[in-house]
Amino acid sequence: MSNRLEGRFAAVTGAASGNGRAIAEKLLSDGATLAAIDLNADALAGVFGDRPDVLQVQADVADEESVKAGFTRISDAFGRLDVLVNNAGIVKFGSFENLSRAEWDQVFAVNSTGPFLVSREAYPLLKAGDGDHTRSIVNITSVEAHIVISSSGHPQVHYNASKGALLQLTRALAVEAAPSGIRVNAVAPGFIETPFTAEALAKDEVRNWLLERTPLGRVGKPEDVANGVAFLASDEASWVTGTTLFVDGGWTIY
Ligand code: NAP
Repeated sequence: MSNRLEGRFAAVTGAASGNGRAIAEKLLSDGATLAAIDLNADALAGVFGDRPDVLQVQADVADEESVKAGFTRISDAFGRLDVLVNNAGIVKFGSFENLSRAEWDQVFAVNSTGPFLVSREAYPLLKAGDGDHTRSIVNITSVEAHIVISSSGHPQVHYNASKGALLQLTRALAVEAAPSGIRVNAVAPGFIETPFTAEALAKDEVRNWLLERTPLGRVGKPEDVANGVAFLASDEASWVTGTTLFVDGGWTIY
C-alpha cells in the first residue's frame, strides 16, 4: 500500500474478476479513484459494493456503442483520466483447421478491438489528465504474444494472434501518444491462477507440467500482475514507454 496514485483517476476493464479485480484493488490501495468496467453489473456490485471511490460501469469492450456510453459516464464523473488498464480478455482453444470465422472474430473483438475502442474513448480524457504527473495506458497482453506454448497441448492461434496485435497496438500507440505525455506499456502475464485458468490448473498433470517449466517454481497470482501494472502506471515509470513487463516467473527465458 502506498499513496503514489493519490488524486489520480484510473479505469480498469474486466475489473470484476481475476487479474482485473486484483489490478483494481491495487490501484485503489495506492490511492486512485477508479472506474471499474466489466460485462457483468452484478459481479461488479458483488466485488465493489457501495465503495465511494469506485464508479461501476457495465460495458462490453467489444461493442462500440457500449464503450461510448460507458466513457460518457466516466467523463461526467471524473472529467479526466490518468490511468487506463485494458485487461478484459477471453481465451479460447481450438485447432487451426477447425477454427471458424466466428471464433476468430470473437477472440479478436474482445482481445484486440476492445483495447482499441476503449483506448480511443479514453484518449481525450487522458489528454485532459493532470499535467503534473505522467499519464498512461497499460495493456494486459500475455507471454503468448511472444511465444507459442505448444507443449500445453492446447492450440490457440486466434488467442496468440489477438495478443500479438495488442502488443503492436501498445508499441505503435506509445510513439503516437508520447508528445501528449501519455505512456503506453504492456504487462505480459504467464500462467496466473484466475477463473480463466481454473479448469486447467485443477488437473495435476497440467499443474506439474507448469511448475516444471517455471524457474521461480510457483503459479502466478493476480497480485503479481497487479504489482507490475501499478509500477507502470506510476510516476516511478515516467521514462518507460512502449515496453513489456513480463510477469511470468521466468517462463519465457526457460
Ligand atoms: P477472467 O478471470 O476471466 O476475468 C476477465 C474479466 O473480463 C471477467 O470479469 C469478464 O467478465 C470480463 N470480460 C470478458 N469479456 C469482456 C467484455 N467483452 N467486456 C468487458 N468485460 C469483459 O480472466 P483473467 O485470467 O483475469 O484474465 C484477464 C486478462 O489477463 C486477459 O486479458 C487475459 O488474456 C490476460 N491473461 C491471463 C492469464 C492467466 O493465466 N490468467 C495469462 C496471460 C494473460 P465475465 O466473467 O462476465 O465474462
